[in-house]
Amino acid sequence: MPEGLKSHGQELAKEIERRTSGRCVLIADPCYGACDVDRRFSDYADVLVQFGHADIPSMQAGPDVLFVEVFMDMDISELLPRALPLLKGTVGVLTTVQHVKMLPSVVKWLEANHHRALVGKGDSRIVFEGQVLGCNISAVEPLKGLADSFLYIGSGDFHPLSVAIETSLPVVVVDPLMQEVRELGELRERILRQRHGAIVRASQAERFVVLVSTKAGQNRMEMAWSLRHLLEEHNRSADIVALEEFHPDRLLPFDADAYVSTACPRIAIDDYLRYPKPLLTPVEVEIVLGLRSWDDYRLDSIAGD
Ligand code: SF4
Repeated sequence: MPEGLKSHGQELAKEIERRTSGRCVLIADPCYGACDVDRRFSDYADVLVQFGHADIPSMQAGPDVLFVEVFMDMDISELLPRALPLLKGTVGVLTTVQHVKMLPSVVKWLEANHHRALVGKGDSRIVFEGQVLGCNISAVEPLKGLADSFLYIGSGDFHPLSVAIETSLPVVVVDPLMQEVRELGELRERILRQRHGAIVRASQAERFVVLVSTKAGQNRMEMAWSLRHLLEEHNRSADIVALEEFHPDRLLPFDADAYVSTACPRIAIDDYLRYPKPLLTPVEVEIVLGLRSWDDYRLDSIAGD
């Protein structure tokens, strides 16, 4: 379970035991997303039930892993009118799995307020229409050239930030948990400045460590090998380091001028300041090596098949 649901764990375990012949073990370790399936459960259990996240179909977690989405239908009727002046023309509507059930009423509300509303379906990493992940905003793809702005229903800024950077269009967040409305233009500029700084800092780096997550849905080992090859072709040294939980202390024993994360794309952005050396995404390595221009910058993402 994600942290926010763990306090319901005992109650849910009792309910599962009451309704089935099964016995439950509650797992206290952190669980950041559907990508985070710790196969060690099979040492002591037959089935893993992950609450709060939708499956990532392209990950093929296996028949012994069940995903139980948790839907939250929250009142945003006071927030939507505040979003209205910030929206432009045709509006693309996006959300996370918790709020996908709210999308039909949001679409209706936009149409009643003279905006065409569009909901796109992402690739094979995504289950629901309009759903985005921090690592995958492919639901935006079918709306490119059609939407003039985006409305994101959900908490946190990372998912809509990717949309703002990818599309350069206005992205308005309606946050049901914080009961807030925000536009992401300023944050977009701040993060782009931070990423530009990271690229400049890493441009003189000679020794790179390419980080690979051992979590099933974040593991991009082939990409790590390609990055190492690319770095070596450009006269940099590169070692590959695998780890489950990312923490700057775990990297202290390794000699490096810069790190590259091939794991969850959020790590390089959200945790950037915790690392003593520049922490880059794979896209940013291409810019450091002169293979991509800054004008073609985008946040890292993990595509489905
Ligand atoms: S890789 Fe990151 S953003 Fe993607 S599902 Fe996992 S935790 Fe979420």
